Amino acid sequence: MTENIDRFGRRITYLRVSVTDRCNFRCIYCMPASGVRSCPHAEVLRYEEIIRVVRAAATLGIRKVRLTGGEPLVREGIVDLVAAISDISGIDEVTLTTNGSLLPRYAEQLARAGLSRVNISLDSLRPDRFRQITRLGSLDDTLSGIAAAQEAGLVPIKLNAVVMRGINDDEVADLASMARDGFQVRFIEWMPIGSSSEDFSSRYVSGDEVRARIEEALGPLQSLREEGPARVYRLSGTSAGAGQIGFISTFSSPFCATCNRIRLTADGKIRPCLLSPIEIDVKEPLRAGATDDEIRDLLIEGIDRKPLGHGLASDAPRDRQMSQIGG
Ligand code: SAM
Ligand code: SF4
Repeated sequence: MTENIDRFGRRITYLRVSVTDRCNFRCIYCMPASGVRSCPHAEVLRYEEIIRVVRAAATLGIRKVRLTGGEPLVREGIVDLVAAISDISGIDEVTLTTNGSLLPRYAEQLARAGLSRVNISLDSLRPDRFRQITRLGSLDDTLSGIAAAQEAGLVPIKLNAVVMRGINDDEVADLASMARDGFQVRFIEWMPIGSSSEDFSSRYVSGDEVRARIEEALGPLQSLREEGPARVYRLSGTSAGAGQIGFISTFSSPFCATCNRIRLTADGKIRPCLLSPIEIDVKEPLRAGATDDEIRDLLIEGIDRKPLGHGLASDAPRDRQMSQIGG
């Protein structure tokens, strides 16, 4: 199959689907305090429309689907969507990125519907600070969500932390220590997207700096492998399977050359790169009666137009907030 290979030889096998731009948190790096004006319901792709796009994508060689948002678990019927996507021939893996707060309610059902694993955002282990960062969230809820995901077998769980100077950078060793309990703890560089870019220069902390701080506190990290966008290391003194720490350094060390993903936004745009404003509308064609081949052609166009690199340092995207694209 060659239709999923882009102009630069990258094979696109991974589709990230934003199922909603709504969220029950307002994380400071992702949204303004007032939230983001939500897309009207009629503009959001219906589940049957998402399923048609994923089916077409599967015929092109997409093998992995990640559901994201906004907060994917605030959308009603999400378990049914997971079940439907898991049933699509060619899709090997359905995963989900979540703030964890609703996992106590949904983890078990999601696992039964065919979800493989979850990534959970966790930026602080201190209740007050967790609240300050997420503005509306509770650390207890997210920790209960993590426990529920473990119990449901949605493992290995990746915990994602965005590190911000003067906000949570003093917690990197504590967060990294969670890797001893079998989580892969991933440190994500803050990206200057949408309104969050205002504080960026004073708050940004590079992955290298985070790594140095972890090594100072917990000893040398042993390099293990590259895993998608993440460079994965092991904490010293841990055995195989435990102690994994990942760094996603999109700003200081872009992974564009090996990027294998495209996105579908909640309002029905194929977005070849998170950080480029290029979008191809699929919602109007779907609603105007496009055939499966026509949907497939739009996906091929998305793959063809995938840019070589994101140029984030010079040209931060302002067209949408992270929650609107699907992080
Ligand atoms: N609500 C879910 C969550 O928080 O995990 C899924 C959507 S969220 C947009 C997906 C990921 O994007 C989260 O791990 C979040 O930390 C990350 N994120 C959001 N804004 C970011 C930014 N400006 N820079 C880096 N990562 C960001
Ligand atoms: Fe919501 Fe996730 Fe954005 Fe936080 S990072 S505001 S949980 S979408």
